[in-house]
Formats: sequence, C-alpha cells, structure tokens
Amino acid sequence: MKPNEPCWCGQGIKWKKCHKGHEDEEPFNVFDVEADARKRGRKGYCSHSLEGEGCSDKIISSHTVQRAGGLAAIAEGNSRVLTVKPNLRALMDHDGHPPPLEVGIGKASVFLGFCGTHDDKLFKAIEGEDVEMTANEALLFAYRAIAYERFTKAVQVANSPIQRMMDCGQPLAMQEVIQQHCHLLEVGARRGLAETERQLGDFRIRVEGQDTAGFRFRAYRFDRILPIVGCGGFMPEIAIDGTRLQRLGRGTAALEHLTLTITSYSGKSVAVFAWIGQQRGPSGRYLEAFDSIDSDAKADALIQIAFEQLENIFLRKSWWEHLPDEQSADLTQRIQSGIGLNMRSPGYYSRGEPLLFEADTVESKRG
Ligand SMILES: [Zn+2]
Ligand SMILES: [Zn+2]
Repeated sequence: MKPNEPCWCGQGIKWKKCHKGHEDEEPFNVFDVEADARKRGRKGYCSHSLEGEGCSDKIISSHTVQRAGGLAAIAEGNSRVLTVKPNLRALMDHDGHPPPLEVGIGKASVFLGFCGTHDDKLFKAIEGEDVEMTANEALLFAYRAIAYERFTKAVQVANSPIQRMMDCGQPLAMQEVIQQHCHLLEVGARRGLAETERQLGDFRIRVEGQDTAGFRFRAYRFDRILPIVGCGGFMPEIAIDGTRLQRLGRGTAALEHLTLTITSYSGKSVAVFAWIGQQRGPSGRYLEAFDSIDSDAKADALIQIAFEQLENIFLRKSWWEHLPDEQSADLTQRIQSGIGLNMRSPGYYSRGEPLLFEADTVESKRG
C-alpha cells in the first residue's frame, strides 16, 4: 500500500498511521478491551432527556428488573442470584462456554441510564405491589428495555476501536481475520444503536403522552415464581417454530424490536412482550408461535427464549444447580449464540423432558 492511501482495514485512516508496521508492534492485552467497555459502562446519562431537562443531578444505577419484587424473589443466600453475562477470564477458562456466576441483587440488572428523578417518576406504575398488565404498564416495561439496549449498544460501538487493536503484533493474515471480525461486529453494533436510538425517541414521546397507538403487547402471568428474571430487546428473526420472520443485516428498512421483561409481583411471575408495529408483523407472528404452546409449557418455552435472546437475565441458583446436566448444557449453548465467533443457534423451541420448570399460565392479556 502507499503510505497515504486509506488503510485496507476500512477504518478510514491513512495506511501509514494505521496498519503499517503493525506486525512489529507490542502484542495487545485483550483484557484492556474488557476494561475499556467497563469504563464506558460507568459513564451514565438520562435516557429520558438527553438535554437533562427535568433531570436531577445524579444518574443512578437503575434496575431493569425490580430489585424488591423481581430479583429478591429469586435470590438466595445473602441476596445473590446468577448472571449469564460472560467475562473474558471466564470465557477463556471455559473454552467459550462459562457457567453462570453469582452476583448480588444490588448490582444485578443495573445500568446508568436514568437520572434519579425520572427513574422514580416514570416507572412508579410498575414498581408497586402488583400490575394489571395494561397497555400503559407494558409501555413502561418496553421503554426501560429499549433504554437498556440503547445503552449497551452505545458501549459496544464506543468500544470497537480498541477491539480492533487486538491485532497488534500479529502477522498480516491474522490482522485481516481480526479486522474482518471486528468490522462485522461494529457494523452490527452501529446498526443496533441506530435502531434502538430511533425507538427510544419514539418511546420517550409515547411515555410522556401515554400514547399507545400502534403499540402492541402480550402479557402472561404464571401461577408461581419462575426461577428467572430478565429484561431486554431483540429483533425476532425466526419464530420458535422455525418460521422466518424478518431478515437481519440487509437493506436499510427499519427492523422490528421486540422487548421482553420477566419479573414478579405478589408471588407470581409476569412476562411482558411489547413492540411498536403491526399486529401481524414479525413480532406478532413470533408471539403467535408462543401462544400456541400449551399453558403448562409456556414457562419452559419462556426460559429457552430468555436464554437465547437476552443477556440481561438472572437465575435462581438452586434451580440452575439442580437442572439435569443435558439441560444446563443446552441452555449454556443458547446463551452463547450470537456472541463473538459462536454461531447463532436456530432458536427453535423444543419441549423440555422434563420441563425446565413446572408452572401454569393463569392469565394472559393482549393489546
Ligand atoms: Zn488499518
Ligand atoms: Zn432525567
């Protein structure tokens, strides 16, 4: 390459200032990538007002799953639950498939995505003793899930330049492999950020005006506490029965995001799916497949979906430890789908033998 040509890696920097002589540089410490992401995750902002209008001074550690109800209900021994969020050390020690780790509920599911005032005021309706599973409540669950997704996508995007440094000191062929991989991750993260950013703006206005036009949800109540809570969003690509719903990574058409929150009130777990779009669009069809599952197996399917689609999930330790080995191995595999170099599994639902958890669905609402 000529020194002033844009570098082959596609970052838009001149070659002489980018990959020239890269193979002779000091090898990069991969733990710095993780440390950088953690550092960026500690920089908060209020998702409800980017200009800080009506905000209190303090950005707080906002729980995406209620601490008092949801998390406390599955905590054991000193308020602890299990997290499936991998850290680099554990990934390396366990060949890319680390087991869940313990975390205290004060730290579980939190992100620095709202100021104290807005976190308090906005989510009051879903922080009480119980919910009626109304559209307005579902809107709040979805808003928090999208705010969380937007936050994590922004961290990923900001973290990508340092990820690209991992090829320092590597031979050219390896540099290419690493840059190619980072490029794909970055494109995905940027696209995810743009989508969640747009959705967050839409939700902000809806929450302010309690506007639920074109907002859809499905809510389910179980007859007991499930051993899992979680919150997040995903783009439904394939339904759990194998139907293809929308193609990701193509074109610029807006993709549908489906949010999912699993928490509990008064001794009963609640799962709320929500989206903005058509009743029979990708999300609607995703949930048709879920609706067709028997009411005694919905908890089983929900657990599989949560492992497959969300990383912000928390588990009851004794439940996890008593699962048959085959089932915990299958769920661990589902966690990893879509992370790094692991292939995304197809995500079909297969009824657990035995069921992952025995519970009945006692109420369902749609809107
Ligand atoms: Zn370069
Ligand atoms: Zn605020």
